[in-house]
Amino acid sequence: MATRKTAVRKTAAHAAARRAHTFCAVPRLPERPLSSRTEPARLELIRVNETKWANGTVLKYHFFRGPAKWTATEARKQMVRDAFARWKALGIGLEFNEVDTPAAADIRIGFEANDGHWSYVGREVRGIAVSRRTMNLDKADAYDIDTPLHEIGHTLGFPHEHQNPNAGIVWNEEAVYAALAEPPNSWSRDKTFDNIISKIKPDTVQGSSWDPDSVMHYPFEAGLIVEPVRYSAGLTPAGGLSPRDVEWVKTFYPPLTASDYTKLKAFESVRLRLEPSQQVNFIVEPEASREYTLQTFGDSDAVLVLFEDTGGEPRFLAGDDDSGVDRNASIKIRLFADRKYILRLRLYFQNRAGDLSVMMW
Ligand SMILES: [Zn+2]
Repeated sequence: MATRKTAVRKTAAHAAARRAHTFCAVPRLPERPLSSRTEPARLELIRVNETKWANGTVLKYHFFRGPAKWTATEARKQMVRDAFARWKALGIGLEFNEVDTPAAADIRIGFEANDGHWSYVGREVRGIAVSRRTMNLDKADAYDIDTPLHEIGHTLGFPHEHQNPNAGIVWNEEAVYAALAEPPNSWSRDKTFDNIISKIKPDTVQGSSWDPDSVMHYPFEAGLIVEPVRYSAGLTPAGGLSPRDVEWVKTFYPPLTASDYTKLKAFESVRLRLEPSQQVNFIVEPEASREYTLQTFGDSDAVLVLFEDTGGEPRFLAGDDDSGVDRNASIKIRLFADRKYILRLRLYFQNRAGDLSVMMW
């Protein structure tokens, strides 16, 4: 009798623990097809970098004012603003600005109850229609700031850390499916497989080590993890941004200062020596108003992004990503003599044998 009572209490405690966590499920978009002949090292660098924003981008976010199911209290919105501020306070080169309309926003945030927490990953949000959310925070859940920190982490281009193949987690798979099938998540087996059990392909994971304290890692109750054995009694990340979260975000989005910009002049080829994922930034002040071509040269994968510097917030004009294809990133556009532009180039992969350069003409 006593044994049975204990068992009942335990089950109740487990149910309570589960109720405490509404988990995040990343919407799955089809992967951009790349040639099967792409060599693994190149493929890895393309997949890691293709979701990341050009450093220096101003990401604009908007809280829906309708329909009512997507709105939230001022306190809920403030927690998201505080989470953006927390990422920015690390000194990263990205900027975050709140805007009044969904059409002006890159990141559109709703608070639909019982829809879970989720966000698209990095530049994926650019493909989402302006009437749709790119992020949801579930107002039926009593979450803290770690939840918007985690969802913003996805928007910055970071995947789930508990799906890191280097974690070596062995799941009690049926226990995981059973736990997630219960409210508040009520996930199908497919959804649980996609967001927990399946390992992220090695080519989309940054770094080689596993960080169970990452803000991109879920907490797990006892009985779900078989190995490492020390987590069989449950795993709770430390909370907030871990030292490695900080290191990673600064790898892709380091602080930007005036010394990070050099001038790019017409017909002057600039030879570049860059590490994979590294970005260079140029100021362009055209001498004549006419059509220009801005292009990379060399056997490489890179993204070029052009902004107009209007004195306030840089305005996105055009971008071109040549990763995985046999051509060079190239932007053809009319520029004006009395205006100022910013060109950003992030290298994904470079064939060691060749040189990389950029030129406008
Ligand atoms: Zn997530």
